[in-house]
Amino acid sequence: MTPIRSVCLYCGSSMGRRPVFQQGAARFGSLLAERGIRLVYGGGHIGLMGVAADAALAGGGTVIGIIPKFLTELEAAHPRLSELVIVGSMHERKQRMFELADGFAILPGGLGTLDELIEMITWRQLGLHDKPIVLIDLDGYWRGLTDLIDKVVADGFAKPRIRDLFTVVPTVDDVLPALAAAPAARIAPAPGRV
Ligand code: AMP
Repeated sequence: MTPIRSVCLYCGSSMGRRPVFQQGAARFGSLLAERGIRLVYGGGHIGLMGVAADAALAGGGTVIGIIPKFLTELEAAHPRLSELVIVGSMHERKQRMFELADGFAILPGGLGTLDELIEMITWRQLGLHDKPIVLIDLDGYWRGLTDLIDKVVADGFAKPRIRDLFTVVPTVDDVLPALAAAPAARIAPAPGRV
């Protein structure tokens, strides 16, 4: 298994209503800096994204942001990153973030976060990668999603082992051990056969 040296964070471009979200984002950034692990993220200076990046930089960490040109104003491209990569499209952003990461961590967020995390899970289901994916379930934020995934399985639209595609942890401090310990997905593509 590849050692985890670079983690891609998906999270909200908003702060969310509960203080635990911002606290979690700040803890996540500090933790990566402390462990000498590079943070890869969407490059904005707003919401939980900005909080995590600021905390990692404050701790002396390396932070690389990937942002499409059209979002540099809307998401306030972070002015002090170790590296800011400006790309042409959302697809390019997702691809670059994927390539630069050894694993993925997901804090609470909105539709953009959902899009990114589902894409990484489904790419893993298709055998396109085998990088670990960890959902950080602050205050039970992801419970609705994991319930829906259970329903997808119960209603016969996916195999029970899709649950091996990602790990759910309760706190930010559980993320790095979970990334290191994540099982290989062992899901061979089987189109149309559930
Ligand atoms: P949100 O969770 O909606 O606050 O968005 C979090 C991040 O995801 C923001 O940087 C958005 O620009 C980004 N995002 C939104 N939709 C997509 C998408 N389809 N592909 C890649 N990133 C996206």
